[in-house]
Amino acid sequence: MQYAESVVDLVGNTPLVRLSSVTRHLGPDAPLVLAKVEYLNPGGSVKDRIAVRMVDAAEAGGELQPGGTIVEPTSGNTGIGLALVAQQRGYRCIFVCPDKVGQEKINVLKAYGAEVVVCPTAVDPADPRSYYSVSDRLARETPGAWKPDQYSNPNNPRSHYETTGPEIWAQTEGRITHFVTGAGTGGTISGVGRYLKEASGGRVQVIGADPEGSVYSGGTGRPYLVEGVGEDFWPSTYDQEVADEIVAVSDGDSFAMTRRLAREEGLLVGGSCGMAVVAALRVAERLTEDDVLVVLLPDGGRGYLGKIFNDAWMADYGFVEATGGETVGELLH
Ligand code: PMP
Repeated sequence: MQYAESVVDLVGNTPLVRLSSVTRHLGPDAPLVLAKVEYLNPGGSVKDRIAVRMVDAAEAGGELQPGGTIVEPTSGNTGIGLALVAQQRGYRCIFVCPDKVGQEKINVLKAYGAEVVVCPTAVDPADPRSYYSVSDRLARETPGAWKPDQYSNPNNPRSHYETTGPEIWAQTEGRITHFVTGAGTGGTISGVGRYLKEASGGRVQVIGADPEGSVYSGGTGRPYLVEGVGEDFWPSTYDQEVADEIVAVSDGDSFAMTRRLAREEGLLVGGSCGMAVVAALRVAERLTEDDVLVVLLPDGGRGYLGKIFNDAWMADYGFVEATGGETVGELLH
């Protein structure tokens, strides 16, 4: 019989799939463009990986005791990963989210049995109402609380250094030349990027994809609509020495590509995936058939059905005309 002992054991070992339609304009000597499909993790995102690693380390270090409570500011995906692990191991969870996060994502957290506190997005991180401040206060005031703090926890990038990076290296048989991913906490780019640099002797180029306005691409933290990526501060989980280049992508381009990935590649993914693919294709334009580019797709599209995949919402922001989604392809070209 073939089965896992627990859903936690299903985290990782996600597949690579070739992108063939959105890459067609690159012509016959285009590089191989492969997507690492992280929504196939049991919680539906790349964040399952860091959840397992951070909880394992906290248990080993005694910071998380039996019956304890996990408190974390999260845009949803890290919460789902933590909720999965917590449920299996008997912990309570309280998550703190900014108000731009989709209601569907919040409902998912609650479905796993977690408690969710929603805070305003448009305030300074130091403001007592910000989701960072509120989670700090809850962690202080809740007995037996442990705050993983994905923004400073070294086990976040470490999980990618130990799992995601080696998987990509093995799956491409060491032939990967370029790695493209978005950065939120920076855990993915820092851990995977460092592993691939070391494994290849510095040959693999690491490219960060970033929403226009975020600090990683030189912005001030100006608001943008893509969820889960970009920052208004520099987290310690972001290793500034790893990325060779950062590509800034607009919300409009990110969402148009997100919709194309569903319609043309059969990949129903989130907005940060569209953003990463736009950046990947910009890089791929200057590559040749000898190159192998891997772009990481962090999560699935189910959490964005009311937004990116909703014509009325897209029209409200001027991303598509109110008549429907037929203008989506035109947005990119
Ligand atoms: N995309 C989504 C949807 C996310 O939730 C996250 C995590 N914040 C990322 C991308 C970025 O990953 P990382 O935090 O490892 O930089």
